[in-house]
Amino acid sequence: MKLTFLGTGGGRFTTITQKRMTGGFRIDGFAGKNFHIDPGPGALVRSFEFGIDPSNLNILFISHAHTDHYNDGEILIEAMTKGMTEKKGLVIGSRSVFEKYRRWGPCISNYHKTRSDLLTLFKDQTIEFDEFIIKGTKTSHGDPTGVGFQLKSNDLTISYTSDTGYSPDLHNYHKGADILISSVLRPGKKSIKCHMSTDNFKDLINEVKPKLGIITHFGLKMIKANPGKEAKRIEKQADVPILAASDGMSINISDKNPSNFEIEYLKRF
Ligand SMILES: [Zn+2]
Ligand SMILES: [Zn+2]
Repeated sequence: MKLTFLGTGGGRFTTITQKRMTGGFRIDGFAGKNFHIDPGPGALVRSFEFGIDPSNLNILFISHAHTDHYNDGEILIEAMTKGMTEKKGLVIGSRSVFEKYRRWGPCISNYHKTRSDLLTLFKDQTIEFDEFIIKGTKTSHGDPTGVGFQLKSNDLTISYTSDTGYSPDLHNYHKGADILISSVLRPGKKSIKCHMSTDNFKDLINEVKPKLGIITHFGLKMIKANPGKEAKRIEKQADVPILAASDGMSINISDKNPSNFEIEYLKRF
């Protein structure tokens, strides 16, 4: 299994300034499928820049109706379906991805809903496919329909919190994760409403106890504080390796033993 970050920026100001890229990330070779998670602005272009083929996608996941998560969703559907000529793939998203919910969404046009299977995921919902199980996880965020996930195959469990504030029950949704990936917008102790800070993530790690923790989706203050240093700081207080994702970082992870991983920094073409 391979995790590749096509963007590690998050929040409005990192996105509009592109201080970090905002293309989301790929999970390739999980239960034989290729996933693109939260394709923010640049997801298509960054895929090609880093030598990744968006037409080999099987599953697109969009966690909520904020631009830094859904912007390139429609064009990736076009890539996945060979320009809407083939019926292919699965789009999984929050309710607001597919329909208007109060002032959020929809993020995908009716035209783009016609060539792929669609699945609205709610927190606490578990869907079983042949090769894997996906469970919707709770978020406390601006879009009330926002959802994270836990993906489970025979060998490996990956959890993604998406954008959420920390809450004392959040770990219940992510327990059992071998790999925990989180949006960590702010450094240090100080979180803002609906987002986690590094210290929130440290608490979550200590509760979930995964084999590998990864932080991404950095706001401007986090970028200034240096996400790598923040990860090192909390790694000392947690008993697991913590990685700060960077643009173009690709992590090869052994499905059977996620503590065994190798990092590659992809060149831009
Ligand atoms: Zn975001
Ligand atoms: Zn958001």
